[in-house]
Amino acid sequence: MDFELNETQAMVRETARAFSDRVLRPRAAEFERAERIPSEVLKEMAELGLMGVNVPSALGGSEAGAVSYALAMKEIARGCAATAVTMAVTNMVSEVIAGFGTAAQRETYVPRLVGGEYEAGSFALSEPGAGSDPGAMRTTAVRRGESWVINGDKQWITSGDRAGVFVVWARTGGPGTAGLSAFLVEGGTPGLRVGKREDKMGIRASSTVPLVFEDCEVPSSALLGVEGGGFKIAMMALDGGRVGIGAQALGIGEGALDDARRYATERQQFGKAIAEFQAVQWMLADSHAELDAARWLVMRAAWLKESKRPFSQEAAMAKLTASETAWRVCNRAVQVHGGYGYTREFAVERRMRDSRVTMIYEGTSEIQRLVIARGALRG
Ligand SMILES: Cc1cc2nc3c(=O)[nH]c(=O)nc-3n(C[C@H](O)[C@H](O)[C@H](O)COP(=O)(O)OP(=O)(O)OC[C@H]3O[C@@H](n4cnc5c(N)ncnc54)[C@H](O)[C@@H]3O)c2cc1C
Repeated sequence: MDFELNETQAMVRETARAFSDRVLRPRAAEFERAERIPSEVLKEMAELGLMGVNVPSALGGSEAGAVSYALAMKEIARGCAATAVTMAVTNMVSEVIAGFGTAAQRETYVPRLVGGEYEAGSFALSEPGAGSDPGAMRTTAVRRGESWVINGDKQWITSGDRAGVFVVWARTGGPGTAGLSAFLVEGGTPGLRVGKREDKMGIRASSTVPLVFEDCEVPSSALLGVEGGGFKIAMMALDGGRVGIGAQALGIGEGALDDARRYATERQQFGKAIAEFQAVQWMLADSHAELDAARWLVMRAAWLKESKRPFSQEAAMAKLTASETAWRVCNRAVQVHGGYGYTREFAVERRMRDSRVTMIYEGTSEIQRLVIARGALRG
């Protein structure tokens, strides 16, 4: 067993870490206040290869693999969780198109996503009445001559107000998941309306919007993969996406532990640094150990993906563990900061709010347990 990073992985991690320390960490609070990640920040990330880490170089990607992607995601989330989710969805959309698209779709959209011509990509699966259960989806796509006409509502779409291209799921056949297909819809297509952004608890610099499709007409070439194959595409994308969100949670947790460690050595009470009190040391120790355990689950899932082996179960375990760990670690970090941790003056408050959503999106913790239980029952 080899736990060492190879040269590419170490380089990607260092690139992401340096960018995160230089640009994101100092400015994350400002992005949150402005409720926006500046375009030039996303552009620079694309230039550094962070918008297509696991995308073939022939399409403009970094082709650095799934482990490098998880490492980069972790480092970006350590600086700014909102920027990390924007990066996560854009990478996921690039990978989906690279994996399932026709040559024309791949060559049209992937270089724009990974190269920064598009600020972001969006993944439009969820609906007001279909979150954990995509089989309840009501958005439809109907053939009209050489076109598809899409009608329906999408909910919770990350970067929906700045995406160059959306992967949109819609019902083209009968009920349940077998009737779902995926389409590529360009931002600004007539009939695609972007709603008011959600006023969220955390990751506030990342936009989350509803979408309304009203007779939105796309060419027949917009179909991604085969008709009726949408659910399979979504599930494969979400397996990879869960590794990314696991890594995002890990980065948030690592950032919170860094903050707690620094504060504990600086803050004096009873004439000494609070780090000298065993109660504080134990909080740091528990966070350190739990994050290490979560880190190996995330890296194993990424490595399995990169090795082209089955990894659904491992991705679910990684995401479940990392997201719930991040929440506990952030909670302890707030505790180490005492009253100051409860103010906007210190980053731990934001990190705690940001971490909460990692237990919800890309499948809630309950849905991860459902996936894990299926495997556990199989033996
Ligand atoms: C900030 C944010 C960004 C998002 N970005 C995107 C995006 O870019 N694209 C996208 O498509 N979606 C996105 N989502 C949607 C997200 O994936 C869904 O919110 C999530 O899948 C849960 O769906 P729901 O909110 O409808 O909750 P529901 O499915 O209604 O779940 C409510 C509760 O019931 C539980 N539950 C449901 N079914 C079961 C079951 N079978 N067994 C046990 N418990 C169950 C859930 O775990 C949860 O606790 C985003 C959400 C948020 C909050």
